[in-house]
Amino acid sequence: MKKWNMIIDVAKCHDCNNCFLACKDEHVENEWPPYAAAQPWHGHRWINIMRKERGQYPLVDVSYRPTPCMHCDDAPCIKAAKEDAIYKRDHGIVIIDPEKARGQEALVDSCPYGAIWWNTEKAIPQKCTFCAHLLEDGWDKPRCAQACPTGALRMIHAEETDMQAICEAEKLEVLQPELNTKPRVYYKNLYRYAKCFIAGSVALQDKDECAEGAQVTLTKGPQNSGKVTMTNNYGDFKIDDLEENSGRYTLRIEYAGYETGTVEVDLTTSRNAGVIFLQPARS
Ligand code: SF4
Ligand code: SF4
Repeated sequence: MKKWNMIIDVAKCHDCNNCFLACKDEHVENEWPPYAAAQPWHGHRWINIMRKERGQYPLVDVSYRPTPCMHCDDAPCIKAAKEDAIYKRDHGIVIIDPEKARGQEALVDSCPYGAIWWNTEKAIPQKCTFCAHLLEDGWDKPRCAQACPTGALRMIHAEETDMQAICEAEKLEVLQPELNTKPRVYYKNLYRYAKCFIAGSVALQDKDECAEGAQVTLTKGPQNSGKVTMTNNYGDFKIDDLEENSGRYTLRIEYAGYETGTVEVDLTTSRNAGVIFLQPARS
């Protein structure tokens, strides 16, 4: 049986907030029984764009991680709900019943992803429905995905085996896999948000010039074969997708006609290693 999944590409999200606004347009002042009561004007972010700045000036970047309900297959919110107020539909979508969930404010804290919001006026918990009312009506994507100008949000209706193949082919990840909630929202290029980088600049000491095309190798311990990159025309380099708090690394910089440069870096979070000056090779 085909089920609904969402793929979110962190590298394509530019924080334009079109998804957030489209969700508001679809759900504020609109009742979609039995899937959702109207979303309030203020306070709720059914698709919440998390923001992260990495590195130190001038070598910094910012990434954005849109975060709706994960529509977990093993959802803590379903277990926490009384009177079956939250349930999973056959096609994979998790729904909060607006009638049965009335007064169950504790459900807000049952979601480990912070995806449930409390509607004070109606006294109900609410969240993203994957726009189930539209999908049931023949749409192939919800409003947020339709509104995204960069294609960062993709909706997939697929058999489980086909979805697994897509996950492997596109190297997709889920948030906090250690929770075993089995999310149906998958992330591409999640390292841009969840991991860190080592960056720096290379310059030629005698000429006071940027070293374009220098080879930079990052190693960790004697057994590590290393990650290799080249400096750009400003002499800058960046090696990404590294674990935070992962210890001591060695940067080795090689450039024809110059002594090899070596820098030790203790990695806690994204680091700008600064300007590394290379000395002319001794003849
Ligand atoms: S993300 Fe939270 S609200 Fe959504 S299904 Fe999982 S536990 Fe429930
Ligand atoms: S799928 Fe629908 S309800 Fe969920 S965030 Fe997108 S627009 Fe909002």
